[in-house]
Amino acid sequence: MLVGFKATIPFTLASKFISTYNYGFLSITPTTTLFTPPASLKRDENKEVDNYAELKEKVENLGICCNSVTPEEYTRLMCPKCKGGQLIERSLSFHMSWKRNYALWRCFNFECGWAGQILAHNSTATMTSDGVHQLGRTNSPRILTEENLKLEPLDDVLAAYFAKRMISKDTLERNHVMQMAGDQIIMAFTYRRNGMLIGCKYRTLEKRFWQEKGTDKVLYGLDGVRDADEIIIVEGEVDKLSVEEAGFPNCVSVPNGAPQSIASKELIPPEEDIRFSYLWNCAECLEKASKILLATDGDLPGQALAGELARRLGKERCWQVCWPKKDEFSSYKDANEVLVNLGSEALKEAIECAVPYEMQNLN
Ligand SMILES: [Zn+2]
Repeated sequence: MLVGFKATIPFTLASKFISTYNYGFLSITPTTTLFTPPASLKRDENKEVDNYAELKEKVENLGICCNSVTPEEYTRLMCPKCKGGQLIERSLSFHMSWKRNYALWRCFNFECGWAGQILAHNSTATMTSDGVHQLGRTNSPRILTEENLKLEPLDDVLAAYFAKRMISKDTLERNHVMQMAGDQIIMAFTYRRNGMLIGCKYRTLEKRFWQEKGTDKVLYGLDGVRDADEIIIVEGEVDKLSVEEAGFPNCVSVPNGAPQSIASKELIPPEEDIRFSYLWNCAECLEKASKILLATDGDLPGQALAGELARRLGKERCWQVCWPKKDEFSSYKDANEVLVNLGSEALKEAIECAVPYEMQNLN
């Protein structure tokens, strides 16, 4: 069912009636998916079918049998490389997009690890990692690897930097925190989805940030919240690692920090909501959660970010974390400050004392 865009429809990921979109149309479907099923595609339908058939053929030429695959879902298949290893498991995690005409896969058999992605030849769509259309994207798909990004394990300087910020070696390794090869000291926070490297954010010791170009915006730490009923959202990668130190692996960070202030205007349609595209790109994880804890920075931009997240995720399931007081006049700013100054127990306590967002923000 496709309907024209109506400005009055609230775009929240929490709604039972999820807003989905494609090709400039907005469709409202009473399902829990953000994506329109193939049958409702209207524009260039025949071309879509051609592309899909071509992609399917290419995938099958690689030995992957994708007859049982539902587009837009992750399916476990038999890996043609290792045949499922000793346990003969369906070790290949496979994802195919109908609309964007690409497929990607990774084998979770430890000894195999075969991974790849493929685009339908005559597709005009551009590659994204999850099938969500990104406006203005004309780049070819990029296959990211630690090798082609020239990433290497953390050296002593950065190990000491993280130790000072109370982030343990285990947490760094679990999150594949690396550094850029070369003379400069540059941290590399790797963004992954189903174990696959799909983006990277770099940071110097002087707090200069940049991101790998031509990649989709997603939440940092996404694989840790895949089936989480409660999700904690923080404002930076180091805060995500800090929250993990306090015993919460179900935490993600936004990829691009906080806005200066909360926008006064009504929410815009998802396809135009570029700054928050990471929410729409991660909708399949976020929409499953019954409770979302907003643990952004205590400053004004951090509170604006909490507000922007809450109005998109649905205020009724959002809770707000308030950071402990530093002295009579001020509070600690973020999760890492609390961890460094008060320790992991205090950070855990602050998170557990979150209050309902609507109660905290009555006006
Ligand atoms: Zn395999």
